[in-house]
Amino acid sequence: MSIHCDIPPILDGRVAAQSLQDHLYSLHQWYQTTFGHPVQLGVLLVGNHPASRLYIQRKKRIAENLGLVFHCWSFVQETPPCDVLAAWRCHLEGVHGAIAQLPIYPPHDARQYIQAIPPTKDVDGLNPQSHGLFTACTPLGCWYLLQHYGISVRKKRCVVVGRSHLVGRPLAQLLLDHDATVSIGHSFTPDLPSLTQSADILFVATGMHHLIQPSHVHPNMIVVDIGIHRTENGVEGDVSPSVYPVVRAYSPVPGGVGPMTVISLMWNTLKSAFAQQGITLNDADCGKEWLKNHPIKASQV
Ligand code: NDP
Repeated sequence: MSIHCDIPPILDGRVAAQSLQDHLYSLHQWYQTTFGHPVQLGVLLVGNHPASRLYIQRKKRIAENLGLVFHCWSFVQETPPCDVLAAWRCHLEGVHGAIAQLPIYPPHDARQYIQAIPPTKDVDGLNPQSHGLFTACTPLGCWYLLQHYGISVRKKRCVVVGRSHLVGRPLAQLLLDHDATVSIGHSFTPDLPSLTQSADILFVATGMHHLIQPSHVHPNMIVVDIGIHRTENGVEGDVSPSVYPVVRAYSPVPGGVGPMTVISLMWNTLKSAFAQQGITLNDADCGKEWLKNHPIKASQV
């Protein structure tokens, strides 16, 4: 099926994230004016992984741009897991949303820290008990990126390469929920190019640097690259740049899915805070319709 919409060749995540950020800023203004306190997001960091520190800095910057209060609780790798867990449980009480920054290495058990997050605050959507309350941030970011460019997945053939619990599976589920026909590839898929060639929209989350080559794509395809690799040339993706000139549109790395993942985390955090006040906001439009119908009253300002 061809993609009948006027889309640019580059799906720019920075532009799409900025437009969502402006809306989320207004949503948070509403929250703070109405309830008299800001929304709070807490992050658990265990160990000293340089990439984790960088990701946390980015999350902090965007959270603070929106006016949220951002906490990072940091523990050295040598801290006994029971001490981390006790402190983490205590901190969780004071925030609206919380995430454990991954990866977390043994003897610490990431699952234990994730499962300590109450489902109503699990804004990464990783605790199996919170299933349905929050969509995991990276799949949601892919979805909002397409939405920003007016690309619907309904009736489209979507191929997701990668089946991790963090990205591939929740992404496939999200696409199914929006009426796409979904196939999933993984490391045991025979003849991956023939599978990817069948896609209208191809999503790649494998952690394999430049896995996707021109032989995997066709000229009418939209390609969403989720991979992140730190190389001597900078950050690169799972899709080779040689693919860019031979597809209909693509999301670059960096500047594609990455910024959308962070802004989706902020959305989930706001959604969580509103839900804790009894207000249900909708993922489909990030609460835009709701905000339109609930202007801040002059008496509240
Ligand atoms: P995982 O390692 O958990 O999963 C990788 C998946 O890719 C597995 O399902 C694996 O298959 C599959 N795979 C590996 N090699 C191949 C291959 N040659 N052909 C087909 N499938 C293959 O990784 P994640 O899902 O956590 O992350 C994937 C990528 O996305 C990474 O580069 C990561 O850095 C990035 N990422 C980006 C985010 C963002 O915000 N942009 C957020 C999270 C991750 P099998 O199951 O058979 O092993």
